[in-house]
Amino acid sequence: MILLRDIDVYAPEPLGRTDVLLAGGRVVGVAPGITPPGGVEMDVVNGRGLLALPGLIDGHVHIAGAGGEGGPASRTPELRLSQLLEGGITSVIGALGTDGFTRSLEGLLMKAKALRAEGVGCWIYTGAYQVPPPTLLGDVARDLALIEEVIGVGEIAVADHRSSGPTVDELIRLAAHARVGGMLGGKAGIVNLHLGDGERPFEIVREVVRRSELKATQFLPTHVNRSAAVFADAKEYGRDSYVDITASAYPYFPDEEVKPSAAIAQLLAAGVPIGHITMSSDGCGSLPSFDEAGELAKLETGEPASIFREFVDAVRDEGLPIDQAVRVVSTNVADILKLPGKGHIVAGANADLAVLDEDLRLRHVIAGGRWMVRDGEVLRKGSFEA
Ligand SMILES: [Zn+2]
Repeated sequence: MILLRDIDVYAPEPLGRTDVLLAGGRVVGVAPGITPPGGVEMDVVNGRGLLALPGLIDGHVHIAGAGGEGGPASRTPELRLSQLLEGGITSVIGALGTDGFTRSLEGLLMKAKALRAEGVGCWIYTGAYQVPPPTLLGDVARDLALIEEVIGVGEIAVADHRSSGPTVDELIRLAAHARVGGMLGGKAGIVNLHLGDGERPFEIVREVVRRSELKATQFLPTHVNRSAAVFADAKEYGRDSYVDITASAYPYFPDEEVKPSAAIAQLLAAGVPIGHITMSSDGCGSLPSFDEAGELAKLETGEPASIFREFVDAVRDEGLPIDQAVRVVSTNVADILKLPGKGHIVAGANADLAVLDEDLRLRHVIAGGRWMVRDGEVLRKGSFEA
């Protein structure tokens, strides 16, 4: 049992200074002056000067590795647990990405199980960039209905030279299967769309909505801040449906991209409701850097902790209230993807917390009621981390 005393709680609603009691992997009480039950061992933490947020949720990470677009040597490695913990991230959604040919959903699913065994929440998207998508059981609907870890399909690439160029009809069928599979399995059945640099990438979703009974909220388009042109469309599209900002590519392409923290503020200013905005890292995706002659100089990978960095910048530089910033990196992701027990600090929720000091530095991370980071020290490492 852990009792956080007198801590400033963003649930995400600002609750002010109160106590939070964690037991059995759950939040069991949020109230001032909780009297701990006698006879049990209790870890009491003085929360003065600290902020408690629901653990961050990174909705788009290539947990089993990705990349490969620069040949075999550019394949990126699997996610390490510490990469999540250093960003206060306690849940993650895995996706295959460009390579739905030599990488497998079996490998992705097993990596999700590994991350769960290491102590964090993890789900996956079935499918990959391609349409028709690879699946585990022969159909997206069957994967969603029968495999607990599968919460949607994606990332399906549109408006990109690496996309298989799905037609409107193909996307309608795919989204309908995701919807039915989601209904059968009690999942969101979201279609996660990778938006490329092509012209008007949101147009295909609008066309799907015009020509079917599906709603735009069945889709979660990502990389909306990748260029000024795509972002201009996102400001309009986001008024009616969800938009996902990508954090880790910044500042690799600073000439084209909108800084993620600034993108949140600009979407809000354009009239996009806060509940429509999420941010993910695209972690473990490959990030090539080129020298002045345009030659590949080095390959790096996206870091999940970038969502924490942009959360801090959104509060500090953009003046976003903390509770709104928390929604973008945790609560909205949990609500849109229907992740049970995640994204809220409330009795009955999973005991997943990120605790910051007054300067918004990460101090503690608790996942499933267990200490993962304490006083800045990472206490739990992935199975093969030093
Ligand atoms: Zn992508």
